[in-house]
Amino acid sequence: MNILILLLLILAFAVVIFLVFRSFRTSVRYSIPKGTQIYGDLISEGKLLRSNRFALTGKPDKVVMSGKQVIPYEYKSTNADRPREGHMLQMGVYFIILEEMYPDKKIPYGVLRYREQAFRIDNTPRIKSAVLEITRQIRGTYGVPVRNHSNSGKCFHCSFKEGCVQSLIR
Ligand code: SF4
Repeated sequence: MNILILLLLILAFAVVIFLVFRSFRTSVRYSIPKGTQIYGDLISEGKLLRSNRFALTGKPDKVVMSGKQVIPYEYKSTNADRPREGHMLQMGVYFIILEEMYPDKKIPYGVLRYREQAFRIDNTPRIKSAVLEITRQIRGTYGVPVRNHSNSGKCFHCSFKEGCVQSLIR
């Protein structure tokens, strides 16, 4: 790979990480949002949500509608004292999908819950740009990145698999 492309990828990745980690607040009070659950294990039967515009897919644990707001909720069985980068990007994917599905609603934030604490992840242009930047990298717009695993299950559950030039799922 051309050294310039490699440097650009490293720089873009560093910027993405910086931007993503500026978008969260922490509190144990963030839990399943109040409202009507419109998506979740018991009512959606595993249906995958999808953005046709960006070819992204996702499966939040729950989505709640409250008035004009739609709030995604994701539970992780591990513990973490701050949101993990991949989980924040996952929430960013949910924001993009839900904005496309509910154009007349607001998606102001999502709740990322770990075993012992929860975080409010704000829906900012930055987090969505970070998702789209990663998407461009994965799809090879700046050269083809190297997949760092051989786990097809990981690709199966990946929000970026559609259009990923390295995906193990065909
Ligand atoms: S589809 Fe597979 S290779 Fe592509 S980004 Fe997702 S996990 Fe990585």
